[in-house]
Amino acid sequence: MLHVDLDAFFASVEILDDPSLVGKPVAVGGSGDRGVVASASYEARRFGVRSAMPSVMARRLCPDLIMLPGRFDRYEEYSRAFHRVVSDLTPDFEPLGLDEVFADLRSLRRLNVRPISGARALRERIRDELKLECGIGLGRNKLFAKLASKKAKPRVVDGQLVDARGVYWVNRATEERWINEMPVEALWGVGPATAAKLRHLGLPWVRDLARIDEASLARHLGPAMAMTLAAYARGEDAREVVVDRGAKSVGHDQTFARSLRGHDEIVSELRGHAGVVARALRERHYVARTISVVVRFDDLTSVSRSQTLAFGVDDDVAIASIGEALVSSIHIEQAVRLLGIHASNFLERSQNQVQLSFGIETPSTNARVAASAISGARQAGHEALRDAIDEVRQRFGRTALGSLSDLGPTGVDPATQQGRAAFGPEPSGYVTD
Ligand SMILES: [Mg+2]
Repeated sequence: MLHVDLDAFFASVEILDDPSLVGKPVAVGGSGDRGVVASASYEARRFGVRSAMPSVMARRLCPDLIMLPGRFDRYEEYSRAFHRVVSDLTPDFEPLGLDEVFADLRSLRRLNVRPISGARALRERIRDELKLECGIGLGRNKLFAKLASKKAKPRVVDGQLVDARGVYWVNRATEERWINEMPVEALWGVGPATAAKLRHLGLPWVRDLARIDEASLARHLGPAMAMTLAAYARGEDAREVVVDRGAKSVGHDQTFARSLRGHDEIVSELRGHAGVVARALRERHYVARTISVVVRFDDLTSVSRSQTLAFGVDDDVAIASIGEALVSSIHIEQAVRLLGIHASNFLERSQNQVQLSFGIETPSTNARVAASAISGARQAGHEALRDAIDEVRQRFGRTALGSLSDLGPTGVDPATQQGRAAFGPEPSGYVTD
């Protein structure tokens, strides 16, 4: 099993696109009060800046930090190029997010390619063609491959960058050593809460998990988690590479600078989100059968709802209507901090035979929406207009033209169109380019 992880991906792409940033501490993320760091350059990491850290804390650690809002469309382009390079090594690969890939190298045996040579060649191509650095791990299974790619990457020790070898192959002796030395939080799926629970049970080390009986672990963590962790502690991980050609979902989330209050505010934002998602679908020539919404409240609890249709949709108005119906089925008592809408369960656009005017029924009775609201001739006119807008945007850029719901006080907002707002809101007064 091979695992590649691109180094400081978003930040590295920003530096490639703007050479004046070379050698400077750069982070991509939300710069407002609620923003978080999504990616940090090694220069920034020397100051202790890490991804998932609140931006306020990052700036405290590194006052000269250059905080960029991020451009998802650009990262997706790089990610597609990354996947193309991996697919030249083997078609048996599984992307994990935009910047990581697992690949099953067993098919290379027939070609007489040694895994270590394949991995080195892959790293060279990523460097030459994408100008990006990466760490590659090779191991008996996903568990060790992922741990190894981390070892293959440069680290910051006492504020200094320590280089690593770039490709790391875990042998049996290393496997044993790691299992003996690793704290439980090094394991996949063990977040801070589970780690705390395990420490509380007197099991802070992976080797502790190997000696405790699985049934008693299950009483505290549930049977599924207990089984997984017990297997990891024996060095076992049966997960195969799941080959999937094409994205599984597209979505648009936004954390707001000022939380939304009331149904009208939520619906008006949702319409803008639906437009972004609908266009992302049309760019990929997909229609989606499942639409989901996620609402996060000020107390950080979240609720999501989804609806699967008998046919696919790729239209702004249809997706917004379904989203509205789903939001109406959520009991909203608090202010809304984050709102997201996602489309999944794709069909090729050409496979979609049923038209929208057949109507849509949503699960709860109070939230019954008929998309037949856009009926007959009106729908045809709407689709023609939508296609014309798409064509202009394709030729002149995503912010060249938009529908009314995309418009802010200064025109079509590039931040929203490029998916930037997911990391947290822009600070007030931010001027877009
Ligand atoms: Mg990475």
